[in-house]
Amino acid sequence: MATAPGFSDARRAAHAAATAALARGEGLAGATRAVVAATDAIFDQARIALDLDPMLARMACAAGCSWCCHQIVGVTMAELALLTETIAAMPPDRQARIKARAADAMATGRGMDQGQWWAARIRCPLLEDDGLCGVHAERPLPCRAFNSADADLCRRSYLGEKLRTPVLAAQHGIWANAQAGLIQALTEAGIAAGPVALAEGIEAMGATSPSGP
Ligand code: SF4
Repeated sequence: MATAPGFSDARRAAHAAATAALARGEGLAGATRAVVAATDAIFDQARIALDLDPMLARMACAAGCSWCCHQIVGVTMAELALLTETIAAMPPDRQARIKARAADAMATGRGMDQGQWWAARIRCPLLEDDGLCGVHAERPLPCRAFNSADADLCRRSYLGEKLRTPVLAAQHGIWANAQAGLIQALTEAGIAAGPVALAEGIEAMGATSPSGP
């Protein structure tokens, strides 16, 4: 029987992947891509070793469900670099819409803590009107950690009820530790790692507008 990787294995794998990518000159976005690939592999090991498929089949997360996309997402500078690259490749009008949404989000939410942001129901600037993530393939590591077995509880929480949603701890822990490994690799490389709030990072990034920030 396969041995299940622990959360510390996810952190170590992410650290090694990011360190190697930086050494290969792949930059911050490349380091994030390397961490995602390494963590996907770790999660796959955990899925098999812990027989997670029956639980994964019961998870409620699906395209178009976006209750969890109304919280502060803390991203490293490496994740922000990947988002910058991704957004810069979008058509100018789409870049402008994202930048406007980030400015709106920060106009309301600047200085708020997580609880205040959630209560204010401030949407992620990357959430599209159809409820889909506009950067799904390149979404930040915390977004890969988010999960829920009950979308209705997520909805009720979004609407203000104080309750906890049931999560798959393995998914949450592996991706959270992957970000910790990435932060460690960036720090060791002398790079200010963050995290920063995603909306604030996008608001500040010049690449979201063809004419700069
Ligand atoms: S980046 Fe995508 S998945 Fe993450 S909070 Fe924003 S819209 Fe949701």
